[in-house]
Amino acid sequence: MRSMTTFDIQYAHRFYRFKGEAQYLHGHTGILTIEVEDTVNPGVNMVFPCNEIQKTAWAVLKNFDHALILREDDPLLPAILDVYEKQGIRNGAPTNTMKGVAFSNELCTAYPDCRLVVTKETMTVEGMIKMVHALLKDKLNIAKITFTSGANAASQEFQPEGTMDRCPLCGIALDENGVCPKCGYRKNK
Ligand SMILES: [Zn+2]
Ligand SMILES: [Zn+2]
Repeated sequence: MRSMTTFDIQYAHRFYRFKGEAQYLHGHTGILTIEVEDTVNPGVNMVFPCNEIQKTAWAVLKNFDHALILREDDPLLPAILDVYEKQGIRNGAPTNTMKGVAFSNELCTAYPDCRLVVTKETMTVEGMIKMVHALLKDKLNIAKITFTSGANAASQEFQPEGTMDRCPLCGIALDENGVCPKCGYRKNK
């Protein structure tokens, strides 16, 4: 069965070199849905608690929220960093507190201090799904990701890698020693 949860992500981007109006900088509220598949954990009668999916995913995904997302070859990137530098906000500001854990992989790099994500490919809805899967596939048994932004929407199914050991008392993933990081439950080996 699947547990699923949804996130609102507000962001600015543009399609550099795209021959349409999307080549101009603009913003969206994107809606991201993540579906996690596994057996139903009999202890709690859930696949996975949705608030835990939210917590795990949002720690990473909040880097995209209220952020600027630009492709690595976009000339706006050095221009904007120059403005942030002169304004003294490139390396952070006291009011910039909703920062996620910095990440970097082959598709994207997050700079939480200046609310920027630099991408290898254009950040279309398809591009977002690829990035989210690459960032979260080791943390969640993802079966499907859907992303909607304005009139654009895309979805992709994935093959989850096996089953995850979960706490029978609170439903969250056990650590590598079979211990629940939340309630201390210990799996009998
Ligand atoms: Zn757009
Ligand atoms: Zn527990």
